[in-house]
Amino acid sequence: MLFSSHRSARPSPVPRTPRNAPPARQAPAAPPEPAHEHGWIAESRHRTSEGVCVYVRCADCGARRMDLQAHAGLPPVGRSIELGGRAG
Ligand SMILES: [Zn+2]
Repeated sequence: MLFSSHRSARPSPVPRTPRNAPPARQAPAAPPEPAHEHGWIAESRHRTSEGVCVYVRCADCGARRMDLQAHAGLPPVGRSIELGGRAG
């Protein structure tokens, strides 16, 4: 009498995705404004048709910004005036 009772009764756990679980909490629309005054330092600059694009980075918090220097000798004009230079 051959009775192969070879059956694996291993309960396969079905991965259940909790539907009631809320998604990742999204950040509010308001961007985090730094509470300190940036100290921009020029990282690199590239000459474009409109002038010289100067990539600056805040040495303190690491924020980056791009300034456009129309002509040599003129101060770079950025979208936002955030010059934290004190020496001068
Ligand atoms: Zn900063």
